[in-house]
Amino acid sequence: MSLKIHHLNCASLCPITGDMVCHCLLVEYTDGLILIDTGLGTKDITEKSKRLDLGFRLLVRPKLDIEETALYQIQKVGYKREDVKHIVLTHLHVDHAGGITDFPSAMIHALRLEYRNIYNKNKILPGYSKEQFNKEINWKIHDVMGEKWNGFNKVNILEGIDDILLIPLRGHTNGHCGIAINSTDGWVLHCGDAYFHSATIKKGLKETPFSINLFQKLVEYNSETRLRNQHRLRKLFLDKKSEIKLICSHDTSEYNACNCGKNPNFIYG
Ligand SMILES: [Zn+2]
Ligand SMILES: [Zn+2]
Repeated sequence: MSLKIHHLNCASLCPITGDMVCHCLLVEYTDGLILIDTGLGTKDITEKSKRLDLGFRLLVRPKLDIEETALYQIQKVGYKREDVKHIVLTHLHVDHAGGITDFPSAMIHALRLEYRNIYNKNKILPGYSKEQFNKEINWKIHDVMGEKWNGFNKVNILEGIDDILLIPLRGHTNGHCGIAINSTDGWVLHCGDAYFHSATIKKGLKETPFSINLFQKLVEYNSETRLRNQHRLRKLFLDKKSEIKLICSHDTSEYNACNCGKNPNFIYG
């Protein structure tokens, strides 16, 4: 079974390094919709000083436009919030998980290590907002089982369904993962914040703009793991360029290519 994907930008960010999107995916599944990352939610806009700390607002300067929220975009095309049955998160940073409170009936999927960053820590780490998780949330927490997908570990999100998988890609955070989807256009691997600029994966680390390299270093959890996973993604890109589309959360050109129906793997010719 292959799944139809829609590409959404669920928060424009305007850091000094250049404009960014929050590239989320809306997946049509047999019994409803699956949202891959949420971007910022409606409450992040209406209660911004409570939910988004000043450091985040100053560093990434979010546009805070209600029309960019996943809820607004989903309702605009005629769906209801209840139609979103599952939300799968690459990680729980503010700009990825803020929208989960807009979908109270959805099941929320994440890796256990990432979940612990919110619930098992006395002090919340930078980049996370405890306020985004202060309501009752219908969690489905996953452990890494070690089965393989193109050489990477994989976790089935839905039992017995091999078309949507968590792919652990640690480094940016300790529980960060990618999400692989068997779409109608072939496999898509949403790499979240495992990289920030397509050149990192599709050309080489040296080709990544200096400011982006500095930014990804500033916000990483573990440098060695992040670089190792970027290396693995580069190899996957070279080996499977025509079979697997690689996208990340914040690269505007990749997002624009997807939205025009082009393959983001070929945006550099
Ligand atoms: Zn992040
Ligand atoms: Zn991010």
